[in-house]
Amino acid sequence: MKQIGFIGLGAMGRHVSANLLKAGYPLKVYDISTAAVEELVSKGAVAAGCAKEAAEGSDIVMTMLPNAPHVEAAMTGPDGILAGLQAGGTIIDLTTLAPGEAKRLCKLAADSGVTMLDAPVSGGVAGAEGGTLSLFVGGDEATFNSVMPIFEAIGKTIRLLGGSGAGQTVKMVNQIMVGLEITALAEAWTLGVKAGADPEILCDVLGTGAAACKQMEIIRRSILQGNYEPGFAVNLQYKDLGIAMETSRELQVPMLLTSTAVQYFEMARAMGYGGKDHSSVAKVLENITGVNISAAKKQK
Ligand code: NAD
Repeated sequence: MKQIGFIGLGAMGRHVSANLLKAGYPLKVYDISTAAVEELVSKGAVAAGCAKEAAEGSDIVMTMLPNAPHVEAAMTGPDGILAGLQAGGTIIDLTTLAPGEAKRLCKLAADSGVTMLDAPVSGGVAGAEGGTLSLFVGGDEATFNSVMPIFEAIGKTIRLLGGSGAGQTVKMVNQIMVGLEITALAEAWTLGVKAGADPEILCDVLGTGAAACKQMEIIRRSILQGNYEPGFAVNLQYKDLGIAMETSRELQVPMLLTSTAVQYFEMARAMGYGGKDHSSVAKVLENITGVNISAAKKQK
């Protein structure tokens, strides 16, 4: 079986790497958090002291880091992946970052004889834990085919969408939808509750109708419980909508609703919720209106 180095053991990476171990892949793991590394070592991974060490002797290195600067930092320098990975090796980047950055990082890898796929994911922490992620892949087709068993160990819907950056383009569209859905739901639930509706009954009766969407599951898990532990952090959603806004400027596409959603996430960050779940946009509205959505549950 292919030897894998895995870098970035946060909310998502800790589950993705655990699924690779379960599938039988020998895994060397690295994170700047030693506690995160220890958790995976307790499950059978080998600890690496830096990204280079995780890459040494590996066929493939996977990265699942916050954004492009983190991936570049993990790839470059004397302790980086490219200093340890043999020519002919592969980097699979599961991070969400800008399509242009994916192309630039792929070129950086190619200069060292390494092939790089962008493979951002959708499905959240539950999808990471259950091995049911959707993977949006960009890059070389032969490399994509050669790593398919690895993708199958962590995801369910796996698509090659074009050359380098193509996976990130699709992920960008996904994030616009997620960001707008969660802010729209926060507004709708705040108004509904202030008008006298039970927030849980709203979930029950609207969850099967024309307005149903995946983010309604987040309402049940976080907003209805008053529990805003991530999940998917506000800071990460803010980054993702920033990627969309930057791309919209380059391509001259007006994004009126997305730019408004960005301001909701900006408010959440200003109120100290940057590290909390992206559903914290509801906290912004709760603070402004005096509504407490979780306390308004009447049934059960
Ligand atoms: P996270 O912040 O929980 O985890 C990031 C991890 O990277 C942390 O453990 C951190 O210590 C580590 N790290 C940072 N810089 C490092 C470096 N230079 N070297 C080694 N380790 C480093 O983030 P997450 O929620 O796991 O998200 C990871 C990526 O996946 C992001 O791009 C995010 O947008 C994307 N994503 C997240 C979700 C979600 O629901 N959380 C869903 C889909 C996609």
